[in-house]
Amino acid sequence: MNEMLDALKDRIVTEKTVPTTLLGTTYERTMPGSALRRMIVHAITATASDRLLADDSKKVLWPHDALWDTTKELLKVPRPQPVGVASYAAMDICPLFHTHEEGVRCTSRGTKRSSEEMAE
Ligand SMILES: [Zn+2]
Repeated sequence: MNEMLDALKDRIVTEKTVPTTLLGTTYERTMPGSALRRMIVHAITATASDRLLADDSKKVLWPHDALWDTTKELLKVPRPQPVGVASYAAMDICPLFHTHEEGVRCTSRGTKRSSEEMAE
């Protein structure tokens, strides 16, 4: 097993990418928490950028458990502290998520929007 893990590491270093094409087979043939699963997830979180997931057509290569394991690992990585619900409540989501006509945006930050807007 150690030799296989070493070979995987060599492949990742040589190809400069994590072989996500192996995720399906790996997750089919290994148990939860196995060294191979942990190593692939670690390699993804330690080396990959968002370009690894840029091509949505590759989504089918990711078993649900691989996504779950990767997400759990990413949540351990130091990052800006979560803002918490109190700060989130005051956050203006208009520029981030709303769809408006060009040049239009909500003006009532942190207050309830009209029912007409709520229907958007
Ligand atoms: Zn808005």
